[in-house]
Amino acid sequence: MMIKGYACKEQGGKLESFEYNPGELAADEVEVEVEYCGICHSDLSMIDNEWGMSSYPFIPGHEAIGKIVAVGSQVAPDRIGQRVGVGWQSASCNHCKNCDAGKEELCLNEDEVGQTIVDRNGAWANRVRSQSRWAIPIPDGLDPSLAGPLMCAGTTVWSPIRHYGVRPGMETAVLGLGGLGHLAVQFLAKMGTQVTGLSTTRSKEENTRKLGATDFIATKESPEDLEKAAGRFDFILSTVSANVDWNAYINALAPEGILVICGVPDGAVSLMPFPLIASEKKVGGGRAGSPSDTREMLEFCAIHNITPMCEQFAMQDINKAVQHVRDGKARFRAVVKV
Ligand SMILES: [Zn+2]
Ligand SMILES: [Zn+2]
Repeated sequence: MMIKGYACKEQGGKLESFEYNPGELAADEVEVEVEYCGICHSDLSMIDNEWGMSSYPFIPGHEAIGKIVAVGSQVAPDRIGQRVGVGWQSASCNHCKNCDAGKEELCLNEDEVGQTIVDRNGAWANRVRSQSRWAIPIPDGLDPSLAGPLMCAGTTVWSPIRHYGVRPGMETAVLGLGGLGHLAVQFLAKMGTQVTGLSTTRSKEENTRKLGATDFIATKESPEDLEKAAGRFDFILSTVSANVDWNAYINALAPEGILVICGVPDGAVSLMPFPLIASEKKVGGGRAGSPSDTREMLEFCAIHNITPMCEQFAMQDINKAVQHVRDGKARFRAVVKV
């Protein structure tokens, strides 16, 4: 059976209808009939070959929600019919030290790590495949039309919150309040921390407070407010893709506080060593998590009624939707209905 979707056929090219023969389903794989798929900035980076790892033609899309319609010979047949999500990573070796410890996102066998749209076709299509372990069940009570962005944006901010030991009662802050940041604010608020939104201007203040933030600092409009926050935050999560004055945020950390970078700044991160040393502050990286991290996040979202703010497009309007995201107009994520 042919899989039909929209592929990019050259660097920076428009999406065009495309079909391919996926071959036989591997023993440990599932095939998902896609219902919805998000549009992530990494899809645009892959379309543009920004990271030098795109091969054309390929179908983008790595925030898929849909139902399992076929399983490989090693997969329990009762998974057929289950609604699942598939994100950026779609395979791991499942036998290395890290996979054994449930840290499959840090799998040591690079050759066996699958990334949904690297040398593979993704989910802007009627079907997508992944290793069964990476097809994560979507709990009842989570709206499938809104869940797609949780599979990449959501798990990318959830995992550092969990891995770096954020606890109720902490003072936390989220730098950058777009697709990733507006989810991080909701997670941190519902987890019982005092969240502050950090953005250059006040334009996102009202919305950020609605999402659960109890304070807001406009870092360009009122830089003195950031200075006044010296020594305040136990945890700052940066979701921005720009290079900022990182030392100003280190200054805002409490002793032993941590700054986690999960947006990708363009260029080197320059830090003054003394403030880190004197107050035992830390800087770390954060990324999309393991299947168990993502499953935990999806369940947390279902219990606490957390959803991404999404704009929906029809699949045939994919080029319009991609342009909308390119122009930075999506509030805050875009999803296509297949
Ligand atoms: Zn592994
Ligand atoms: Zn993504």
